[in-house]
Amino acid sequence: MRVLIVHAHPDNKSFNAALTQSAIEQLTADGHDVQLSDLYAMKFKAVLDEDDFEQRNNVEQFHVAHEQTYAVEVGAQAADVTAEQEKVMWADLIIFQFPLWWFGMPAILKGWVDRVWARGFAYYTGRKYDTGMLRGKLGLICVTTGTSADTYAPDGIDGSLFDTLWPINNGVFRYTGCDVVEPYFVFMPAKMSDSEREEALSGWRAKLHNIDNEPRLQFHADTDYGDNDRLKPGVIAKSGFQHNA
Ligand code: FAD
Repeated sequence: MRVLIVHAHPDNKSFNAALTQSAIEQLTADGHDVQLSDLYAMKFKAVLDEDDFEQRNNVEQFHVAHEQTYAVEVGAQAADVTAEQEKVMWADLIIFQFPLWWFGMPAILKGWVDRVWARGFAYYTGRKYDTGMLRGKLGLICVTTGTSADTYAPDGIDGSLFDTLWPINNGVFRYTGCDVVEPYFVFMPAKMSDSEREEALSGWRAKLHNIDNEPRLQFHADTDYGDNDRLKPGVIAKSGFQHNA
């Protein structure tokens, strides 16, 4: 398998760095090919703006999605975006490694998605979910938190971590056609004992070693939705934020 790890932590001695290092070692030992995008080390530009386009379709108005589509078509995207897209196309499995910041991804990773997951590359009109342009690939989140598993329980003060990650698992991976492996959570690594941290690293290695058989998240097929994009009557909602009305 070809694996792209998109790593978003500014400290190369962090626990996130240890998780990425463990992943590289395990995947390589298991015979997989690995590429790493270490976003802070690369000083990856996090903001999608006009500088991303070497040539413009419309110089009067900056319509972002239209410019992305045009730039993909004519090869006018920024070089760093194209380089990341080549890695995405190469990969069978894309891992997002990050600490939970404000209930989501660090801005540098969100910016990577904004810029790399461009219209015309990852999705297009009529090309989403079951027909998404990254169909056939797998997505996987490995995330660390600052608070406990209890706070992220479904009845916890922070709410279910599965729900918190729905915008990424559904909105980034599934939207573009990827299948999604159940995420790996490390709660409060800063409060763990040394042996607990070793256990967390071993658990991550074990998950990657078993990647072919790891459970996938459940999403509805496009055929479960009616013409209004809502679940058809009688279809029981089974994923993330969705609830039967
Ligand atoms: P670190 O603090 O880097 O590491 C934890 C411990 O692991 C350290 O003692 C380190 O020395 C040790 N370690 C490093 N390498 C190894 C190794 N190889 N083996 C063993 N031990 C090692 N938390 C939330 O829950 N929700 C939020 O919404 C949220 N928002 C945040 C927003 C911001 C802007 C910030 C800065 C933090 C936020 N946090 C939040 C907290 C954040 O999620 C945690 O601080 C982070 O996930 C911890 O991971 P880390 O890699 O930074 O840990």
